[in-house]
Order: sequence, then C-alpha cells, then structure tokens
Amino acid sequence: MGLLLALECRRCDYAATITEGYGFSGLVYEAMSCRDCRELVAVPIDAKGPAELDESARGRCPRCGGTHLVSLRVAHGGGLGGERCPWCDGPLSVQRGGIWD
Ligand SMILES: [Zn+2]
Ligand SMILES: [Zn+2]
Repeated sequence: MGLLLALECRRCDYAATITEGYGFSGLVYEAMSCRDCRELVAVPIDAKGPAELDESARGRCPRCGGTHLVSLRVAHGGGLGGERCPWCDGPLSVQRGGIWD
C-alpha cells in the first residue's frame, strides 16, 4: 500500500502527482525532489517479497537517472519538512490522495 501525493506550488504552476510507499509491483518508493531535472519523483528504494529491484535503479531519479535527490518524507513526518518547489523555491502544498496498491 502507498500514498498518492498531489504536490502543488503556490507561486508558480508546478504540480506533480507521485506515489510513495509499497506498490503492487513489490517495489517501495519514496517521494523525492530531484536536483538534476528539477522534478518531484517517486524513487525506488527497496523491494519486498518476490520483487527484485535493479541495483542500477535504486536511489536514482526515474526520469533523468540523477542521484542528487532530497527526500520529501511526506508519509513519515506527517507533513513536508519545509520542502520547496524545485523550480521557483516557493512553498509546496501537499494533498494526500487515496491508498494505491
Ligand atoms: Zn514553484
Ligand atoms: Zn531527475
């Protein structure tokens, strides 16, 4: 199970919907901000059960393959830890969507 997160910048029009947690594929994703391509992305960090995570994909941005990632820690801390829009540095709002599985 995981969370659907709708992140939106109040200053510019940047918005992203990402998933965090444990997906049906068996991969565990964490919401992160990529400093390389300036996107908010779900990064595969682990695998459970029979699933296997390609080591070359672990901890890498799925869009650009970059490794300059900063965790948003949305699900764990109960709120964004002061995370900022990757484009304009404005404050991000977060809405939790339904559980995905
Ligand atoms: Zn922005
Ligand atoms: Zn990236």
